[in-house]
Formats: sequence, structure tokens, C-alpha cells
Amino acid sequence: MSTPNQLFINGEFTDAKSGETFATINPATEEKITDVASAGVDDVDAAVKAARAQLEPGSDWQKMKPRDRGKVMWRIADMLSARAEEIGRIETIDNGKPIFESQFVDTPAAAECLYYFAGWSGKVTGETLPVADNAFTYTLREPVGVVGAITPWNFPLMLAVWKIAPALACGNTVVIKPASNTSLSLLKFAEYAKECGLPAGVLNVIPGRGSVVGNAMVDHPGIDAIAFTGSTEVGRQLMARAAKTLKKVSLELGGKSPNIVFADADLDAAARGALNAIFYGKGEVCAAGSRLLVEEGAHDELMAKVTERAAKMTAGDPLHPKTRLGAIVSKDQMDTVLSYIEAGKSEGAKLVAGGQRADIGTGKGYFVQPTIFDDVDPDMKISREEIFGPVLATIRFKDAEDAIAKGNATVYGLAAAVWTRDVSKAHRIARAIKAGTVWVNTYNLYDPALPFGGFKESGFGRDQGKDALEKYTQTKSVWVNL
Ligand code: NAP
Repeated sequence: MSTPNQLFINGEFTDAKSGETFATINPATEEKITDVASAGVDDVDAAVKAARAQLEPGSDWQKMKPRDRGKVMWRIADMLSARAEEIGRIETIDNGKPIFESQFVDTPAAAECLYYFAGWSGKVTGETLPVADNAFTYTLREPVGVVGAITPWNFPLMLAVWKIAPALACGNTVVIKPASNTSLSLLKFAEYAKECGLPAGVLNVIPGRGSVVGNAMVDHPGIDAIAFTGSTEVGRQLMARAAKTLKKVSLELGGKSPNIVFADADLDAAARGALNAIFYGKGEVCAAGSRLLVEEGAHDELMAKVTERAAKMTAGDPLHPKTRLGAIVSKDQMDTVLSYIEAGKSEGAKLVAGGQRADIGTGKGYFVQPTIFDDVDPDMKISREEIFGPVLATIRFKDAEDAIAKGNATVYGLAAAVWTRDVSKAHRIARAIKAGTVWVNTYNLYDPALPFGGFKESGFGRDQGKDALEKYTQTKSVWVNL
């Protein structure tokens, strides 16, 4: 597999100044894929210099008309679409997710995001505002400058593009740090971007340890805004740290999303939806429907359907086209998931599916069985904390009021779903649930036009949609005396 493993700074692949590297592991085989250059503080500085140079008057990026920037983004999207198999394989080998997801879902979604925001290039405008007879007053929507993006390992390419695309559409430049577990797809993306004519320095990719590179980015006076996706814990630290330089910060954080099924729902659809909600992406999905809330009257029937389907789901070789459940991203993450399963057992939840590490017949790989707990008490650890793995906690509720109370009984507020045939009830619940996204009779659907982000401790700021432009622009008011 030919894939870059060096830092991408100022349009060139280069070793870290220190020469340091770290190994990246295929979680399905436990074998090393390659050693990746590990950026240090000096490399962050070099990346920021390159990114700042493209904000100077007369630079290639500044000389391009906004619509021409959009054309470059469009070309990158075309290339992603054409090479989805190549970059999808890289993602699968690095992350452990099924090739079905990386080639046919994540990469196309990244391409769509680029197409969508390419269309915004040249359409991010200010307003004229009539304030007085003797004045001409208007606003300019200007880029924030250098955007420092820090992204997680669960959708390494797609979530990076969710930041890169709107940032470029608004005329910014980007320094981005992918998660150490999964740096390879973004380095490949950088190679494509160069081939498509993105000027050197506009996009810089600097893998490395969060505590080193992430902190250096947050501290760097040459970075104007930090766009972070990751855990609530790291988001909190980063926001406190950013106070020193008063950087504009946006945080897309964790979740513990309720998937609420009423007795009047189509229970076959709800059962399929419940499994998709928690087992898609191995449950390593920020918006995963990790709490299944079931109305008493539908409980037994729904659980029979859910467990029957779950029993048929087996983990498999992520590179096999039929595999739908891949490997957990790392041994550490697998151990975390298994420790939550043990906590569920010891706290007295009823295990009705899975519950152990899985073996796909190779004796290798970080696989976990799709696991379902029933009769979970809302106070149990598996009901309160984000597990970020294929583990479902099922909780019963009595009526709509109880569903809303239980659904909102979390510090998080990223997503939720409601399954019912009663249209009024669906809309009432959608209003009452404190979450950035609410699905009705479906789960895990996304579109670049729809804003995505959190309420409460799931963060603030929106990726995707028109709202994302807010993060990457600042408004200037101009008052002309007439
Ligand atoms: P994480 O541990 O918070 O890491 C996220 C990124 O931050 C990685 O690039 C990481 O680098 C870096 N980082 C770690 N420590 C840092 C520090 N002290 N300063 C600056 N950066 C630091 O999260 P993760 O385990 O990769 O991802 C899982 C989490 O992301 C879950 O909580 C999930 O819910 C959340 N998530 C949220 C969304 C959303 O849109 N709301 C989407 C996806 C995921 P290293 O890799 O080197 O540690």
C-alpha cells in the first residue's frame, strides 16, 4: 500500500524536525502498518508559518477568486470520489472499520461535504444596513485566518473534511492534527489536494501526540481559531488552555444519545434502527444511540427482535466487502469497552447479547461482540458514561413525559431519535429533547446541508450546513460618512 507517512507542510511531505516517528497499527491484525512522522513544537511553527504566508496579500490563495477556490475543492471532491477504494482501504486498515463503510459511506460523505462547501465559495457575504441618512454602513464577512483543527480517530477522513471544507470555502488556511491512531487517510487526502492544485501552505497536516501538537497549536499565537472534535474531557482542557490567547474555539464532543421507541412505532423498523444506531461504526460514533429507551408496552416484542438480529451480527475481516462490524480502533479502546461490559455485569444489568471479545478466526485483532444490556437502571455507569463501542444499554419508560425526563437525564446533548406513528408526539419529543440533532423514525442520517453539533456538554458550534460558516468567519462593520 503506497501511502504517505510524513508530515505535510507547505505542500511537501517531510520528516519531523526531531526525526521522531510513532507506529500505527492495523487493529484487525495487530500488525504495524508503518511509522508515521511525529510532529513537535517546531513543526507546528513551520506549519503555521506556511499557513500564514497564504493569508498575505499577493499569495496564491489570496490571488484566487473565491469561486476558483471552490473549483479546487470540487476537483478534490471528484478525486475522492474516483479514488474512494484506494483511500477507503487506507482508512479501513488504519481504523478497523469495514471497507463497506469507509469506501461507500465515509469517503462519499467527505466528497459531498466538499461539493457542498465548494458551492459556498463566493457566497459568504455581508449586508448593507441602513442606519442613518448621512452614512453608508455595511458588514464584511472575513475569514478568521489560520484555523487549527484537531480531529478524532472514529471518522478520520470525514470529520477532518467537515472542518477543512467550510474553512477553505471561507478563505482561511488550515493546520490540522489527526488522531495518532489514524493519521494515514488525511495524509493521503493532502496528497490528493496537492495534485488538484491546492496551493502549498493552504492545508498542512501534522500528525503527532495530542499532548504535544494539540497543546502547541492551542498556544500558538499564529493560529486564530481552534476547531476541535473529540472527547468532552479533552475539549474542556483545550478550552481552558485557549483562554490564554483568547482563541475562537468550537467543540464537537461526546454523547450518550437516547433512542426512544414508543409502543405505537413500526417495531421492525425500530429494531433495525436500534442496531444501526449502536453498531454502525462499531459504536465508535459520537451520535451513537447508546441508550435504547423503550415504552413498557413494546419492551418484550422489541427486545426479541433486537436480540434476534444482534445474534446474527458477527465481527469480521474489515477488508471483506460483506463485513458490517469491524475491529475496535486500538487495544486501549477495546480494553475500555470490555471494562464497561464488566461494569454492566457487576452493576446487575441483564446481558442479552454478546458481552465478550470476539475472535474472527485468526486469533488476532481487537474485536468485540455486539453487546446488549437490558433492564439497565439510569444510574448505572453504562447508562451515564460514553462507552464509544458496540454496547447498548436498554432502559424502560412509562409514557412520553418519562421518556423525555430519561432522555434528557445526561450531561450530553448531541443526538436523539424517536420512533412513533403519532406525528404530534414525534414533534413534541423533538422539541423537548435537548440535543443538536433529533431523528424521527430513522437514525444516523447526515447531510452536508444539515448543521451537526451539540447541546450541553456535547459542545458548541456547528459542523456542516450554513451554520458552519459562522465558525470560520468574523464580521467587520464598516461605517462610511457620506
Ligand atoms: P480525544 O482523545 O479527545 O482526541 C481527539 C483529538 O484530540 C486527537 O487528535 C487527540 O490526539 C487530540 N488530543 C488529545 N489530547 C489532547 C490535548 N491535551 N490537547 C489537544 N489535543 C489533544 O478523542 P478520541 O478518543 O480521538 O475520539 C473520541 C471522542 O470524540 C468521543 O468522545 C466522541 O464522542 C468524540 N467525537 C465527537 C464528535 C462530534 O461531532 N461531536 C464526532 C466524533 C467524535 P491523539 O490522537 O494524539 O491523542
